[in-house]
Amino acid sequence: MNVSNTVKMFISLNVQMHHMKEFKTVQISLSVYNRLREELEKSKTKTTLAHLIESILLEHLETSELMREYGPFLSYVSNSEDTIYINDWKQRRIAGVRVNMREDGSFSLYCDLDNSENCVHIGFVFALPEFYKILKEKGVKPPKI
Ligand SMILES: [Zn+2]
Repeated sequence: MNVSNTVKMFISLNVQMHHMKEFKTVQISLSVYNRLREELEKSKTKTTLAHLIESILLEHLETSELMREYGPFLSYVSNSEDTIYINDWKQRRIAGVRVNMREDGSFSLYCDLDNSENCVHIGFVFALPEFYKILKEKGVKPPKI
């Protein structure tokens, strides 16, 4: 390594250090790290691991905030192979959200309490892992991002 290379290294390190003031370092377990790396490779986007982690965390925080707002009124009850039952404590009723398969392999959701395809119960279903299990069992292909 010659002198000019050493100088360059020092400069870039300095810039990084300055930049780091806006960031905090967090330790995660190796197994989670490996899963995130896999996720990054699968996503085939040019995003960095740090950006991926940040977007996952932001999404989670947003969902948590919504759940805090609506959570006390809605809770998961059970599901059949195509319907998820949600207890609506405000209306004191059970809403059944049915997953309807279309011929092209896509799906739509229908709430029998509101007779609607767009209501708070359908929004709630998107936050439930049970919903994604139903989609997987029905062979719904994940959307292309
Ligand atoms: Zn509804």
